[in-house]
This record gives sequence, C-alpha cells and structure tokens, in this order.
Amino acid sequence: MTTLPTTSNGHGDPALNGHGDGPHHDVYDVTIVGAGPTGLFSAFYAGLRGARVQIIDSLEEAGGALTAIYPEKYIYDVMGFPRVLAKDFVEQCLIQSQRGQPTVHLNEEVRELERLPDGTIRLGTTRAERFSRAVIICAGVGAFEPKRLEAPGIRDLEGHGVHYFAKRVEDFRDKHVVIVGGGDSAADWAVTLEPVARHVTLIHRSKFRAHESTIAELEASDVDLRYPGCEIVSVGAGESGHLSAVTYRDAEGTETTIPAEELIVAIGFVADLGPLKTWGFELQRNQIVVDGTTMATNIPGVYGAGDIVAYPAKFKLIATGAAEAVTAVNHAITHIDPKARLDAGHSTTIMEKREKAVR
Ligand SMILES: Cc1cc2nc3c(=O)[nH]c(=O)nc-3n(C[C@H](O)[C@H](O)[C@H](O)COP(=O)(O)OP(=O)(O)OC[C@H]3O[C@@H](n4cnc5c(N)ncnc54)[C@H](O)[C@@H]3O)c2cc1C
Repeated sequence: MTTLPTTSNGHGDPALNGHGDGPHHDVYDVTIVGAGPTGLFSAFYAGLRGARVQIIDSLEEAGGALTAIYPEKYIYDVMGFPRVLAKDFVEQCLIQSQRGQPTVHLNEEVRELERLPDGTIRLGTTRAERFSRAVIICAGVGAFEPKRLEAPGIRDLEGHGVHYFAKRVEDFRDKHVVIVGGGDSAADWAVTLEPVARHVTLIHRSKFRAHESTIAELEASDVDLRYPGCEIVSVGAGESGHLSAVTYRDAEGTETTIPAEELIVAIGFVADLGPLKTWGFELQRNQIVVDGTTMATNIPGVYGAGDIVAYPAKFKLIATGAAEAVTAVNHAITHIDPKARLDAGHSTTIMEKREKAVR
C-alpha cells in the first residue's frame, strides 16, 4: 500500500514568520483538514499552484470514508475509472497528492481553529499548534476514529500487541494472531496474514459482512474461524508487558483462552464532528455553509470542500468534491496573494510556467 511520508515538503526551508511580539511560527500557505479523497485532491491542486501545503487527519491512514468504511467496495462514478476498488482509488489519490510534496500529519485531530489579528489561521491539534495563511476544511462527516474494543486492560496494550491499524505484514510473521471483526478489513487481514503468521484466529459475534469473494477465500483458508456469537472478554499480558493471550466467550457462554501475540481489532470507525461545531462556522445540519461560487466559509481565509460543505444543490460525491477542491484552492491562492491569477489554466500550462520560472 502507498503511504504518505510525514516529512516536510520540498519548497526549501520552511519560512519562519512571527505574529506581533509573539513566538515565531512556521506558517504554511494552505492547510488542509482531512485526508479523504477531497483533501488529497486539494493537496495535489494547491501543490500544483505552487503553495506550501500541510494536510492533517485524525486517522492513521489517509483516504477518509473510502479507507474507514468501504475499502473493498467498487466505485463506478469517478472520472477515468469505469470500476475501481475504493482502496485502489485511494492509492492513486495518494500518489497524485504527493506531486507538491505536502507535509503530512496523520493520527492528529484538529480541535481548535482561530483567526489571529494578522489574518493567520491557528489550528490547535491533539499534537501541536499549526499555522496557515489559508485553510481548506475537507472534514467529511467529522474526524474518524477506530471503534475501541471494550475489555479490561486492553487500552494499556495498544502499541504492545493490540492494533487498530495493521500496516506491515512482516510484523506478524510466525506470530499467533487474533483478529476481531466481520467486515472487509477483518476478513482481508485474516486471508493476508494466514500464509505468514504461525496461526490466525478470526473472532466475530455475527455473520461476516465482507465482500463475497473474500468470504469464500476465508472459508477455503486455514484461518481458525470462531463465529457467530463469539466476543473477546479479556486480554492477558506476559512479563514483558506485551499481549500474550485473549479470552473469548462463545454463543453458549463458554469462555476459552487462546494464545495471542498480536490482536488486530477491526470493528469499524466512528466519526465525530464535535470540535468543528465550535469554530464559528455557519452550520446547516452538521455541514459548513459555503458560498457555492468560491467555497469560502464565513471565516475569512477558510474554505471548505467535499462532504462537509453545504450550498444549494450540493451532491455528496467524490467527483463533486474534486471540483469543489479546485475552486477552494484557487480562491485560497488569491486570498493569500491578491495579485495571483484566479484561473491559472490547465495543469500543463501551470507546470510549464513553473518549470520556466525555475530555469
Ligand atoms: C458506504 C458508502 C459508499 C459510497 N460510495 C460512493 C461511490 O460509489 N461514489 C461516490 O462518488 N461517493 C460514494 N460515497 C460518498 C463518498 O465516500 C464521499 O463523498 C467522500 O468520501 C467525501 O470525501 P471527503 O474527503 O469530503 O470526506 P471523507 O472521505 O469523509 O474524509 C474526511 C476526512 O477528514 C478527517 N477529519 C474530519 N475532521 C477532522 C479533524 N477535526 N481533524 C483531523 N481530521 C479530520 C476524517 O478523519 C476523514 O479522514 C459513499 C459513501 C459511503 C458511506
């Protein structure tokens, strides 16, 4: 899978700008809140226009709803792809988003947004304070977070054998792996890890909801299936403080303890619009009201695009989000530099001009 590098971007050393007498901050041109398809396309387009960009998402992986809700579902209505799996589409969006080498902050939720007296926007996140001349909110239905499994002591084992995102297959080689869940992610990880791990057990409390072909693959594999009616009730750790066992209860109420060096919990995600409601936006049914011509919100310098925005005749689709991203970026660029062209032309024209300027 393509992942986003979390390095600084390629526009030279970050300029350090101050605000009055206060401390000096690294101020980006454009900050994008949300790395769903709209946020990724906004990052690409802002990079194309020469902006220094950072992108922030609460999830550990980019892709928004496509990654969190339907990675294995086919999409039929995005340009250029007659039929594409959501996770494969995200992969292409990620590659495209990297053109301008944006700085990427994953696993980081934006909690506060404030416009400072000099017009700079300050974003308070779960990890840092970030500053920007313009902001594009691409927050979809809110910050996604994995649903946590409720079992005594399990929180303490996050990062010590308990995973809500599994990244590298090699981390599971020759291990006793237990996976919880019945959707695409759980089934996908079970069939992927079965040839690599020492033993894979998949525990689920009802019927599998994964793609038919993945379920068929699962049933033909050596994955140890414990379902329906099975739920994890407790976890155990060894002397090193790493996960060593899980205990599950079956439909008859019998409790069984099995060895588990790694536990992947894939029971879905919850989205929380929470903090965004307090940032001073005009809201309409959990969406930010924007000007349909400019994608500007009621806060100067802050634009919106994708599922989060409301304007007359809004469609909640990936394709419309991409168009809104272009509009939002172009207006953000002229907000930052009123002398900049609103319509910079086609991508080839923009690229050629930039290449000439570098020569
Ligand atoms: C089951 C299902 C099937 C669908 N099928 C299709 C389809 O076939 N074709 C189609 O065009 N559309 C489809 N859609 C709709 C499509 O998924 C959305 O239109 C699209 O995901 C919107 O993209 P987005 O980037 O605006 O928001 P999202 O994909 O929701 O991404 C928003 C991102 O912002 C992050 N975020 C939010 N708040 C914060 C914060 N405060 N701090 C940090 N990060 C934050 C979230 O974690 C998330 O990653 C489907 C939707 C669903 C639910």
